[in-house]
Order: sequence, then C-alpha cells, then structure tokens
Amino acid sequence: MGSSAVTPGASPCSHLDQIAVTGTRTNVCEECVQLGDPWVHLRLCLVCGHVGCCDASKNRHATRHYRQTAHPLIRSIEPGERWVWCYADETIVGVLAK
Ligand SMILES: [Zn+2]
Ligand SMILES: [Zn+2]
Ligand SMILES: [Zn+2]
Repeated sequence: MGSSAVTPGASPCSHLDQIAVTGTRTNVCEECVQLGDPWVHLRLCLVCGHVGCCDASKNRHATRHYRQTAHPLIRSIEPGERWVWCYADETIVGVLAK
C-alpha cells in the first residue's frame, strides 16, 4: 500500500503514507455490539483496520479510536463511499481507488 491507493484531493495531507488497510469484511461496530447500542455509519481506520461508528452515532467510536491511537486516516465503508478523512487535517484528503 501507500499513497498511490488514494487520489489526493485539493488538501495536502502528510499522513497518506500511513495507509496500511483500505478494506475490511467487518460490517458492524464491535464496540457498539458489546454495549448493545445502535450506530449510524461505519468508518474504517486505514492505519490498523479498526472499524468504528461515525460522529452521528451515539458512541462515536471512530473518533474515540483516533483520540486513543492518533491514527489519523479513516474511510467510509458505507456502500459506494470511498472518501478518506484525515482527523489531523480535519478535512477530506482524497478518494480511494476502490
Ligand atoms: Zn493528514
Ligand atoms: Zn460504535
Ligand atoms: Zn487505527
């Protein structure tokens, strides 16, 4: 992997070389499952493969994961969505090739 997996957007992001994971078969927020809570959308950590729920969800596990690990890059794993968000840069920094 590497930055070639992402078509960069207008915003420069110095973190794209941290991408190690771009896809997952996980389709639940496992932390919400354990809590018995619902979630809205799922986000995949592109550094370690953690799947967490989005900021519209009650528990915001994707953001919590960033705070705990400083892994800056996530993608949406909602069907048809390929954008990459950088928490450090607070913007969408590109779109994955697949
Ligand atoms: Zn960045
Ligand atoms: Zn969650
Ligand atoms: Zn991670």
